[in-house]
Amino acid sequence: MSDLDPVKAESRIFPPPAAFAADATISGMDAYYALCAEAEQDYEGFWARLARENLHWYKPFSTTLDETQAPLYKWFEDGLLNVSYNCLDVNLQKGLGDKVALVFEADGGEVTKVSYTELHQKVCQFANGLKSLGVGKGDRVVIYMPMSVEGVVAMQACARIGATHSVVFGGFSAKSLQERIVDVGAVMVITADQQVRGGKHLPLKAIVDEALALGDCQKVRNVVVYQRTGGEVTMAGGRDRWMHDLVAGQSAVCEPEWVSAEHPLFILYTSGSTGKPKGVQHSSGGYLLWAMLTMKWTFDIKPNDVFWCTADIGWVTGHTYITYGPLAVGATEIVFEGIPTYPNAGRFWDMIQKHKATIFYTAPTAIRSLIKAADGDATIHPNKYDLSSLRLLGSVGEPINPEAWMWYYKNIGGEKCPVVDTFWQTETGGHMMTPLPGATPLVPGSCTLALPGIMAAIVDETGHDLPNGQGGILVVKRPWPSMIRTIWGDDERFKKSYFPEEFGGKVYLAGDGAIRNKDTGYFTITGRIDDVLNVSGHRMGTMEIESALVAHPMVAEAAVVGKPDETTGESICAFVVLKRSRPTGDEAKQIATELRNWVAKEIGPIAKPKEIRFGDNLPKTRSGKIMRRLLRVLAKGEEITQDISTLENPAILEQLKQAL
Ligand code: ATP
Ligand code: MG
Repeated sequence: MSDLDPVKAESRIFPPPAAFAADATISGMDAYYALCAEAEQDYEGFWARLARENLHWYKPFSTTLDETQAPLYKWFEDGLLNVSYNCLDVNLQKGLGDKVALVFEADGGEVTKVSYTELHQKVCQFANGLKSLGVGKGDRVVIYMPMSVEGVVAMQACARIGATHSVVFGGFSAKSLQERIVDVGAVMVITADQQVRGGKHLPLKAIVDEALALGDCQKVRNVVVYQRTGGEVTMAGGRDRWMHDLVAGQSAVCEPEWVSAEHPLFILYTSGSTGKPKGVQHSSGGYLLWAMLTMKWTFDIKPNDVFWCTADIGWVTGHTYITYGPLAVGATEIVFEGIPTYPNAGRFWDMIQKHKATIFYTAPTAIRSLIKAADGDATIHPNKYDLSSLRLLGSVGEPINPEAWMWYYKNIGGEKCPVVDTFWQTETGGHMMTPLPGATPLVPGSCTLALPGIMAAIVDETGHDLPNGQGGILVVKRPWPSMIRTIWGDDERFKKSYFPEEFGGKVYLAGDGAIRNKDTGYFTITGRIDDVLNVSGHRMGTMEIESALVAHPMVAEAAVVGKPDETTGESICAFVVLKRSRPTGDEAKQIATELRNWVAKEIGPIAKPKEIRFGDNLPKTRSGKIMRRLLRVLAKGEEITQDISTLENPAILEQLKQAL
């Protein structure tokens, strides 16, 4: 792909702090290599051992991996277990009943703490409530809720009775919600009267009503409503129930439904960065195993940790690293409602200080916006807060630009916390490539190496292995327990999307481009496969040009796309957000020239954007990812006809239409 090796260009290397390494679950690279070797020598034996050691099985499995219908792989299929039992009852048996499971902070700052005993009770009562409405094993339940204790309870309660949940992020419109309700064939929707974001009350129940009125939702028998604000809602007689009424008088004991390890725990739609979202179906056993292992390996979770993942439960990160992973390992975790910029852009730092968070996990989009905010307002700069409780930082969702990484490392981690840049996808269920904080020397902008048991590789368009130093297509060569099982209701699309025939039909295609360093073998994600640029025969990832732009002191964010060009095949068009306000006229032209020269100096003249446009923001998915596919259309000067259901800020498209 690229001739340039981002790791080589990056001379900063940060070995794990000695004190961290000494105490880490995986301590030192030898320990990492030993696990990798175990997986290579006896792949199934490796996973079987981990599944036996980490999960509680009601009935043990006898077969580890069934490949007879590949790529419809099955893991631990004849084993029976319950995910909620593994997250709650197991911890009570370990004597953790009084330990705080959730520290919930609402948008207005009110804090609620819930112990493992209390969480267990709430989940059982709600599970019994669901059963009283006839919901059972195999039913699909859509959850459209704000960040709340009740949201986690709803997911866990579904798991307890074997119902498959499909969480829809609370920012989606009625139309997007209806499409998902119809696609999964939901029998119930769980929602709230309203949600609170940045001091504003926004409707949820009213949107559910609107979605159901759009049609084709006959299967939905009930809507259960959590009362968040007390705002006015219409309750349809017979169909709609308040959550508090439903749980009133329910027993706090609910026998778990023992299900096959392959039973679908949830279906979750992808972000829509590259196209129409896909309903990704996950398993129970294999999924939970990886959620637990990555909590232990990547996050090095310890009994006294206060873990904080800032994701929403509407995204896979919220599933694996809020609802399931932290609870399955008996951790204390913070859950927050609201936005990072309310009451001011110091909210995250304030919450870390107040709750003494030890592990903090967020997205590059949040980091970039908070850098911009801190630059503009010294009173909410992280150096105004006591962040000394932190011992580990994480990043997820997009490639993190080296400059943003450095800011995070210095200003939030005080140069003493390892940063784990975790590469993974809705489809992978949990981390795939990430540094191990007590082992891996860190390089800003690199997700470093694959976790033990994950057979990641880089291949060319025909599926042949590429040597280190040569960019190509990221694949995973062997199935792993937490992988996507299928696209809900569409095995054919599943096979085509992830196991294409060109690669032999048995290799998982991630859809991202990557390069491995010649010496270290470290991976760097270079962008989506579709985003690879070809300028006069030079293949480049979008990521390195974007990172060069972001390294300029004036730039807050940048997205780069290719545009057909008669002479060079493709030319580079960059969309840039400055830390200051959006420039126009001659000033814009002048800054554009400076940025073009800057990129030429940082990477080389070939990477110089032919065109630069400035915006107040970039088009982003509701999970905060840049939608380059829309920018490609804008760069060409064409009208957008693609699916924009997951676009957060449609108004920005108008601004970015015009060339300077
Ligand atoms: P869709 O599949 O609908 O186009 P999406 O790929 O954005 O949307 P997600 O599953 O939420 O949906 O995101 C996974 C993608 O996010 C990865 O394929 C990768 O492009 C990007 N990503 C996530 N974490 C990282 C990371 N640490 N470094 C680089 N890229 C990352
Ligand atoms: Mg994807």
